[in-house]
Amino acid sequence: MACKSEDGALGGIEHESSSPLPRASARLYRAGWMRGTSGNISRVIASEPWTMEITASGIPKDQLTEADLVLVDELGNPRAGQSGRPSAETRLHSAICRATGAESVVHVHAVSVILAADLWPAGVPLEGIEQLKGLGLDADGMTVIPVVPNSQDMEELSRWVLAAYQPNVPAVIVANHGCYAWGADIQQAVDRTESLDWLAQLAIARCQLSVGSPASEHTTERRYR
Ligand SMILES: [Zn+2]
Repeated sequence: MACKSEDGALGGIEHESSSPLPRASARLYRAGWMRGTSGNISRVIASEPWTMEITASGIPKDQLTEADLVLVDELGNPRAGQSGRPSAETRLHSAICRATGAESVVHVHAVSVILAADLWPAGVPLEGIEQLKGLGLDADGMTVIPVVPNSQDMEELSRWVLAAYQPNVPAVIVANHGCYAWGADIQQAVDRTESLDWLAQLAIARCQLSVGSPASEHTTERRYR
């Protein structure tokens, strides 16, 4: 089982014996957000020493099993005895967990968030929408989902994400790429990803129809028309 080190020394965080990541991965794949072998998900499984399990690179996410999870340290390096290659974005997952206190991160390539970032490259504004509660936010409040440029350099992308993230907003969009959402466990991170997708779809539709939301009047550098 992938959740324990060979010497059984991991500790500090209580988790169930089998990993919930394969089931969550299949659910995200079915949503159309992990096409090809894209996307990756992770969760912290121990605090001493700090250890995270993350999906291995290059695995179709609807076929993921516990054998396809890799245990990594706080720098995203595989722990001793791990044979799989962790996702290329592992370093960013660990950086998000350590900076935010989250214990699980979901990264998907959802079309909706990429389009929303095209429309609002300075941040996707959302206000007065009930579904904001799905991100743990006030339904009556104003929220801007941060947007950062894409980069193939994980250290650079990690810096941009950590610089852009707002402590009360558990998600960041990466332009032309996808999004990261996080939470206290994988269920919450998946739920928040679904809410973010729904909110992005609503904002895009309102923009197309020129109706309904302050989002349609927020600063936009580019539009469909
Ligand atoms: Zn990606």
